[in-house]
Amino acid sequence: MNWSAEEKMRLLFALRQQGLTDKAVLTAMEKVDRGLFVQGVFAGRAYEDTPLPIICGQTISQPSIVGAMTQALEVGPRDKVLEIGTGSGYQAAILSHLARRVYTVDRFRRLVADAQAIFDALGLSNVITFTGDGSFGLPDHAPFDRILVTAAAEDPPGPLLAQLRIGGIMVLPVGQSDAVQNLIKVRRTEQGFEYEELLKVRFVPLLEGLGRE
Ligand code: SAH
Repeated sequence: MNWSAEEKMRLLFALRQQGLTDKAVLTAMEKVDRGLFVQGVFAGRAYEDTPLPIICGQTISQPSIVGAMTQALEVGPRDKVLEIGTGSGYQAAILSHLARRVYTVDRFRRLVADAQAIFDALGLSNVITFTGDGSFGLPDHAPFDRILVTAAAEDPPGPLLAQLRIGGIMVLPVGQSDAVQNLIKVRRTEQGFEYEELLKVRFVPLLEGLGRE
């Protein structure tokens, strides 16, 4: 069953109230039922503007933060996008409506399998999932027009900077995992990298190696 008109209105109202203005991003978010990505006891809260626990001890991000990150990424229909941190798959599903192709990586096999099943059910055939340590990016598929990292590192990982196309944009949270982090936007130019701080956020840490599940 799909989300009701009331649930959809509730979520979109919260997004607009948090200052999300980009029409394309709002339209993409309207197409993705967040309820499909939240299981178990928290399912009833899927349409609230709040992060929620998912399996493997991870979290599905707060919708208004997903919106702000997607807006900052300035995704166009020809873009090849890399997402690090598939988690529930919610962010990747939104990106799939905006981009040409989305590559998404998580270190937990179980999360990747569950997200893949949802993408299949929704017919989102332009999302390609990978299990692995996303700090190294996907060298075989680089360069990327856009890179979105949804777990916090202390600094932007070197391999990800290297896999960003000139003219490309990367959005990621940086800072200590147990503290408030900065969401930053990195633009790669002919000359190098330009950094801009966007807002304070709190994400789970970008960890090394594969998860155990
Ligand atoms: N984008 C997700 C939220 C992700 S939570 C969503 O829409 O639901 C952060 C995710 O990053 C977690 O699933 C965690 O397993 C993953 N992660 C952490 N470190 C990672 C790494 N080095 N490589 C790949 N994924 C990583």
